[in-house]
Amino acid sequence: MAVCRFAPSPTGRLHLGGARTALFNWAWARHSGGTFLLRIEDTDRQRSLPEHEEAIIAALDWLGLERDGPAVRQSERAALYQAAAERLVEEGKAYRCYATAAELDELRTAQERQGLKPQYDRRWRGRTDWPATGEYCLRFATPTEGDCAISDLIRGEVSVANKEFDDPVILRADGSATYNFAAVVDDGEMGITDVIRGEDHLTNTLRQVHIHRALGQEIPRFAHLPLILGRRLDENGEPATLESGEPAYERLSKRNMAVDVDHYRQMGIIAPAMVNYLAQLGWTQPGQEVYTPAELAAAFELGKVNKSAARFDLERLQWINQQHLRALPPAEVAELAGIETSAEAIEIGMEKARTLTELREELSWLQPPEGLDATLQGQLGDDNREAFAALVQRLEKLEEFSQGAIKQAIKDCCKEHGLKFPRLGMPLRVALTGKTKSPDVALVASILESNICCERLRSVSKIGK
Ligand code: GLU
Repeated sequence: MAVCRFAPSPTGRLHLGGARTALFNWAWARHSGGTFLLRIEDTDRQRSLPEHEEAIIAALDWLGLERDGPAVRQSERAALYQAAAERLVEEGKAYRCYATAAELDELRTAQERQGLKPQYDRRWRGRTDWPATGEYCLRFATPTEGDCAISDLIRGEVSVANKEFDDPVILRADGSATYNFAAVVDDGEMGITDVIRGEDHLTNTLRQVHIHRALGQEIPRFAHLPLILGRRLDENGEPATLESGEPAYERLSKRNMAVDVDHYRQMGIIAPAMVNYLAQLGWTQPGQEVYTPAELAAAFELGKVNKSAARFDLERLQWINQQHLRALPPAEVAELAGIETSAEAIEIGMEKARTLTELREELSWLQPPEGLDATLQGQLGDDNREAFAALVQRLEKLEEFSQGAIKQAIKDCCKEHGLKFPRLGMPLRVALTGKTKSPDVALVASILESNICCERLRSVSKIGK
């Protein structure tokens, strides 16, 4: 039974990468009958904002990623981190460092001049000749010999020589904990068994393994999710291509595309479809592309997540959304789209629409047209005005306002006036919908029903009189 957590920093809203991390933690926890926890990493007091935290939680709720228990907030746990750091100092696993910012700058400059990797040189490690005054931070004494290795659930064995690491700050001079330290103390205290996060955290993970060990904590399993790439844009904002003509991709970024999950909600993607698509940014279920969150949780396996980068494809997301919408009863789709209409109309709209927004556009003829511009008035025609008036009269008298009867009325009128069907069909469409394109005009009329049709026709017949 896995105990998983999603640990966002509330320095922005929930973006696609974060949502996928949350989803994979949720799915893994649910798959194993375990627990999914939320930890708000708000130690950066300047950049962490309550409205971001609210937006992240609202987005998780929208996606349906329910948590087990209340959120843990790092800003409320400073005492825990301080106690853990003090314990490491007592055990000789962490130490006071009195190096000033100016001294560290000097060290970095000297190292850069020699072409060396800038690293803290452990000048205070093992010392107790502390000055009587002066600020100090606490640094973790990383082992200098040997290697640090993990067996990543997705990437397999990953190891780094310990000499690559320096001694990271765990508690700043003001007593606040750094990310790598707070996260490890919390993962231990919260009993996290599986840490699932983006592969950009891989180096942090190796540092954290040392800290887990030093604190005597059981080391969790780790899984690092592949990068997500989006289409690269050229200087004109158009999708760029490589010399070979293939589409060019780069790391997903808000410079290039909308990364805020809420953007997709607003464009009419529904939550189960978003979950379905986010899962596919790294995970594939052989033979099944469309699944519900519950089916995902049942089938999800971390071991099947790809190592290679995932590519965000908006068209694919829209297609998946369309499949989810089509699988719902029309009444539910109508409610989601905020449209009051019949099942028949929803089915017509869903022939093309992929999102709720597109559905509203497809069915915009349900709303009265907002006046007709000159082009549309032209469609009403002058030469067949008489025939059109006759059609309106005929429709007003129609007893059974069905698609078949309406079609027949148009045909009969055309015959009487020696016109071809579109000569009356098109003006009728324009009069009813305010557009030159719509589903079958007789079908549209029958869905609008007699009263609404006659009302719209009457208001149009006044035009130009
Ligand atoms: N707060 C970190 C972030 O938002 C996540 C850290 C973690 O998952 O351990 O990137």
